[in-house]
Amino acid sequence: MEEAATIAADAVQDSCSLDNYLAQPDHTMDARIAAAREKLGTDVVLLGHHYQRDEVIRFADYTGDSYKLSKIASQTDAKYMIFCGVHFMAETADVLAKPWQQVTLPDLNAGCSMADMAEIGQVENCWDSLERAGLTGNLIPLTYMNSAAAIKAFCGERGGLVCTSSNARGAFEWAFARGEKILFLPDQHLGRNTAFAMGIPLSEMVVWDPYQINGGLAPDRLKAAKVILWKGHCSVHQRFLPEHVDRIRREKPEMQVIVHPECRWEVCQKADAIGSTERIIDVIEKAPAGSSFAVGTEIHLVNRMAKRFAPLGKEVITLDDAGCLCTTMYRISPQHLAWSLENLIAGNVVNRIKVDEDVKHWAKVALDRMLEVKG
Ligand code: SF4
Repeated sequence: MEEAATIAADAVQDSCSLDNYLAQPDHTMDARIAAAREKLGTDVVLLGHHYQRDEVIRFADYTGDSYKLSKIASQTDAKYMIFCGVHFMAETADVLAKPWQQVTLPDLNAGCSMADMAEIGQVENCWDSLERAGLTGNLIPLTYMNSAAAIKAFCGERGGLVCTSSNARGAFEWAFARGEKILFLPDQHLGRNTAFAMGIPLSEMVVWDPYQINGGLAPDRLKAAKVILWKGHCSVHQRFLPEHVDRIRREKPEMQVIVHPECRWEVCQKADAIGSTERIIDVIEKAPAGSSFAVGTEIHLVNRMAKRFAPLGKEVITLDDAGCLCTTMYRISPQHLAWSLENLIAGNVVNRIKVDEDVKHWAKVALDRMLEVKG
């Protein structure tokens, strides 16, 4: 590492400031990223989420959804993990990392609007209310991966676990084997779609609004509910509407509609298939030539699949015309990636994501339970 630091010092001594990188056009970063990657060798691993922009994800050692990437994060031996995703993903990697590994997020502004919809204080208040109502005895808290480490720890400490869109059903089954009710955080849509697919009617689900007294729910409704859904959503996937499916049915009846389970229940009900990003890719990959798909998920992934599958005679388009973009993930630019890598070469770990030790313990308990659930 000492030798690498010397080589890099020339390149970065005057330019370690992020502003110097942001002033440069995207394409000028390519050669710098590739050179820095080579110098760092196996000391660094780059993890890229499927929603990441092309100019960044092309440098990733591993791409995947948050489930796949969290598994990789728990297995890699690289000294540094650079997470080209959003904040909660880097936190998860830090929780699963070995003590000597360090995780960084190239831009700290890459957050997730859904994760921000459940703050730990709000969740604790909710639990206190449910405890006063005598409902926590058989209640298992379950959080989607897209949540802060503190929320994951909250669930781990109370006998619950984490899930992703790949294994939500397995996690629900795990929870119902241990309790009678689930508190699902923070995505109401994934929770509703999963529970409904398991045969739980909508009448047995309620939505807890953290901005209302007692979640805005009458005691008898809460008592009767099998699933208490947190009032959170993904601002990208919630933009897909039932009308978008209707239009595809009208204009391209031969197309199959496949959507992510973060989409509204009404959209999922009209779709031909529902699945995590990994499953969406898998379905299209296995489909015969001549198949066509309208996909309800983030636009970067849809565009990449369109390009990849066109030569194989498969058509992939976005479900809506506008193309929904994850603006927070988009904040990770080639400039941020080059800045992170070149700083590492110079011996500076920039934008390290470090979860508090007490939070880490219980978050890991919840994540370890998730990794045992079938994906
Ligand atoms: S797509 Fe939605 S849930 Fe995923 S990171 Fe972006 S805002 Fe969060």
